Amino acid sequence: MLYWYTIISQYLGLAFIRSLRRLQYCLKGKLPLCRAVFLDRDGVLNELVYDKEGGRVASPVSAKQLVVSTYAPDAVEKIRNLGFKSIVISNQPGVAKKQFTLRELSRMNEKIRSELRDEGASIDAEYYCLHHPNALIKRYRVNCDCRKPKPGLLLKAAKECQLDLKNSYFVGDSLIDVKAGKAAGCKTILIATMTDLLNRVISTEKAEPDYLVRNLSEVPNLLSDLAKG
Ligand SMILES: [Mg+2]
Ligand SMILES: [Zn+2]
Repeated sequence: MLYWYTIISQYLGLAFIRSLRRLQYCLKGKLPLCRAVFLDRDGVLNELVYDKEGGRVASPVSAKQLVVSTYAPDAVEKIRNLGFKSIVISNQPGVAKKQFTLRELSRMNEKIRSELRDEGASIDAEYYCLHHPNALIKRYRVNCDCRKPKPGLLLKAAKECQLDLKNSYFVGDSLIDVKAGKAAGCKTILIATMTDLLNRVISTEKAEPDYLVRNLSEVPNLLSDLAKG
């Protein structure tokens, strides 16, 4: 009897001390902070697509079109094993521009999550800005604080997930990602596919190719897809 009494009181004592410590942190407004690796979505977790009509490299507009980057599952798993939270931060104005529905957007995001899950990787949180200053849908026509290069999504994530921004990293493939990361006080990593630059050159040179591939290995697949019509 005494034995159980000792065990239970010790356990309760420990739990009490633990909750007291937590309360102390809360009162000081100081919960222990986590470090995060923020990940842009398009061009980082999934491949970009070539929009033939627009003559530019763009984001996919359907789950069918979305191809998860071959590097994504392994990289996300390693990032989490290094003790970082992995958090998606992405502008998705496609709904506002009537390029796809909200439902299609969640299908695309689910495809990324499920392919990562299949390889044992996972994302801790996702934050999307759905706004656009020229949105066709009125509800989204907002000059918001969350559209990158503004840091709103990062600040929101930091607040909700108790993150240490100064020791977090933002990984993106566009200069607006670098700007947003800097504005939030993070360190920034640019995946140098130079999409911005490429789009600018394609348009100023008026040299829109019919198809765009990342490397030669994609050519046979493209040709067989084209043959299928
Ligand atoms: Mg991107
Ligand atoms: Zn926004």
